[in-house]
Amino acid sequence: MSDDFSVEARLVHGGTSRAAGEPVTPPLVPASIFVSWGEPQPGRGYGRDSNPGWEALEDTLGAAEEAEAVVFASGQAASMALMLALAPGRSQIVLSADGYYGARVLADMLRPHGAVPVHVDLGDLAAVEKALSAGPSVLWAETPTNPLLRVADLAGLDALASAAGAPMIVDNTVATMVLQRPLDWGAAASLYSLTKSASGHSDVLLGAVVSRDPALLGQLRAWRNTGGAVPGPFEVWLALRGLKTLPLRIARQSQNAQAIAEHLAAHPRVTAVHYPSLAGDLARKQMPDGFGPLLSFELGTEQEASAVVAASRLILPATSLGGVESTWERRGRWAAETAPAGLIRLSAGIEPAADLIADIDHALGVLQ
Ligand code: PLP
Repeated sequence: MSDDFSVEARLVHGGTSRAAGEPVTPPLVPASIFVSWGEPQPGRGYGRDSNPGWEALEDTLGAAEEAEAVVFASGQAASMALMLALAPGRSQIVLSADGYYGARVLADMLRPHGAVPVHVDLGDLAAVEKALSAGPSVLWAETPTNPLLRVADLAGLDALASAAGAPMIVDNTVATMVLQRPLDWGAAASLYSLTKSASGHSDVLLGAVVSRDPALLGQLRAWRNTGGAVPGPFEVWLALRGLKTLPLRIARQSQNAQAIAEHLAAHPRVTAVHYPSLAGDLARKQMPDGFGPLLSFELGTEQEASAVVAASRLILPATSLGGVESTWERRGRWAAETAPAGLIRLSAGIEPAADLIADIDHALGVLQ
């Protein structure tokens, strides 16, 4: 569709043809092979080359950021292809010390392929500059971070990465393209776990990389095709359906998360609350339309956090984030996670805020 329209309008109409007689919802095409005569041609031939469903999803994701998208079987598959594509000729991958732990674990496992992971506090620009000066690098940023919701200064990071000749990648999973567009801040690529808010219904595992760099996009497609981390037709169909309501869901989830964060900040047993709006002006500059579904808060001990999670009657005890149903977990239960032991990560869903706050108060009541 025309670029004249908003990101929200492009998401609603993604994958829909305007030609007479065409279905308004894109068809689900489970084919693993496509008719191909003679010498192999570029495009569809085998299910690892392409699929009409993922082409529609890629068109929609790309249009939302005025770029092109490559979709993968999960967020981690997208990260792996990106790390492998960027590793040659680079000695290190500089990552957020407090971002999604799976990225740190993955970078560590990919050490034999070239780049050594270096963990930095992305809020400390002097430390980032120093790390980038140690050798040819990739800067792997994440903002807001999962699970501490720290906001990194994308303009500041881009200036440092550009000076060092390092491509900047931004994991934009928590904010989504509705609230933040990293390519406009200089990123070489935005990375997404579409498993989260983008699909939004806790029924899909998918990932994507969005970029304006044709060479990088070509490498990502080659890694996907040869490595085989291709998305399934049904998953892309569900994700495309979910994307249509992403702006509505994100707006409601952001309102709910804000209300919960404010409520928790006033609770006597809560020692800290983490939500971008509480972090100040930088968050408002980069995310003027809202701060997303994810927040976290701290209680005094691991035992207190576990007891509170176990006492909810509405919020589901589960991992992941961005679904229509609110979920929470004591984040430190994951072995590779570095979050404080008493930290609970909460993903606000679309239930009425009053129900969520009543459930939280009931659960915190076990501490009295
Ligand atoms: N990035 C972030 C910020 C995440 O939270 C996750 C998963 O939790 C991923 C990437 C990986 O995505 P997936 O679980 O779809 O592989």
